[in-house]
Amino acid sequence: MKNIFVTQSSMPEYEEYCEEIKSIWESIQLTNNGPKKKLLEEKLIQFLDADYIKVFTNGHLSLQLGLGAMGLKGEVITTPFTFISTINAIVQNGLTPVFCDIEEDNYTLDPRKIEDLITEKTCAILPVHVYGKVCNVDDIQKIADKHGLKVIYDAAHVFGVKYKGKSITQYGDMSMLSFHATKVFNTIEGGALIFHDPALESKLLSLQNFGLSDEDAVYIGTNAKMNEFQAAMGLCNLRHIEQEIAKRKHVCEKYMEKLAEIPEIVLPQKQQNVEDNYAYFPVVFKNTKIINRDVIAKKLKEEGIFARKYFYPLVSDMAVYRNTMETAKTPIARKISENILCLPMYSDLADEDIEKICSLIRRLYSR
Ligand SMILES: *Cc1c(COP(=O)(O)O)cnc(C)c1O
Repeated sequence: MKNIFVTQSSMPEYEEYCEEIKSIWESIQLTNNGPKKKLLEEKLIQFLDADYIKVFTNGHLSLQLGLGAMGLKGEVITTPFTFISTINAIVQNGLTPVFCDIEEDNYTLDPRKIEDLITEKTCAILPVHVYGKVCNVDDIQKIADKHGLKVIYDAAHVFGVKYKGKSITQYGDMSMLSFHATKVFNTIEGGALIFHDPALESKLLSLQNFGLSDEDAVYIGTNAKMNEFQAAMGLCNLRHIEQEIAKRKHVCEKYMEKLAEIPEIVLPQKQQNVEDNYAYFPVVFKNTKIINRDVIAKKLKEEGIFARKYFYPLVSDMAVYRNTMETAKTPIARKISENILCLPMYSDLADEDIEKICSLIRRLYSR
């Protein structure tokens, strides 16, 4: 039996990567702000229409250093319906996460619930564009402006997404992208910050290199530099990004078509004014007496299909954070977390595999 995993990394042709890395043998510069890394930053600035961008060794360290570079102190309003990285980055900066509930239809931070959580300690809002769904950036910005708060987006899932014709990473004070192997665009491991404040550029460059600038150090930095082999992978993958997204779109359309007739499931909904990147295919399964998300996941697994309970459990329910954080105010996040399943989604997922997954789900519901 062939296994179908929830995701599969997109890779360039082997020859294309070899060609790209050839010049590293000539430059003999493997890392430390090398030419490929700089070129990748230039290409990304163009592709994302960004003011400023810095790339890092991964998405998590990008976010951790981004929050640090902004010099934030106090409480950060965020969502528990995210990957643990988001919350770790907040806590690792000595900041306190305050959990706000999400919207039922797109799983992102609910702006109507933010203001109740603002105190004199609140310094920022950190929403997550989950699954490639765009947060309500307009309302979030209005609240931030009214209360003088920074907005930092965890944009790990939204590479290439546009809202009202603009790259989604243009919104807010800062956005973090992840270029992890499992994301829509990858540099094997990697990440980036997109921001508007020019003063952050040299600070971030220094922070990712131990806090050094020339011989002296003015910050306590870390090591988060993207190396040349990562950047080379990025340069190759970026050449094919449009095709990558188009292929994902096809997969999404196949799923939509084949799962459309089942009343007990909620499929991802198209958002207004959004150009999607089809990063994930999350489905919410209504809890009936005989069937629920866990049963579906188990049955799929028996057939070698590895869907993922993503994001379950909520970060606030994980052992490290359990009992230290208030979770009573996020009932919708809890409900979604208990009923959602991400079906396999990657650009080379074959039509017959989609059919296999969907017919299994259809059969389970028709019993
Ligand atoms: C992948 C991911 C991260 C972390 O990115 P890495 O590049 O893996 O460090 C952070 N937040 C979210 C929502 C993610 O999916």
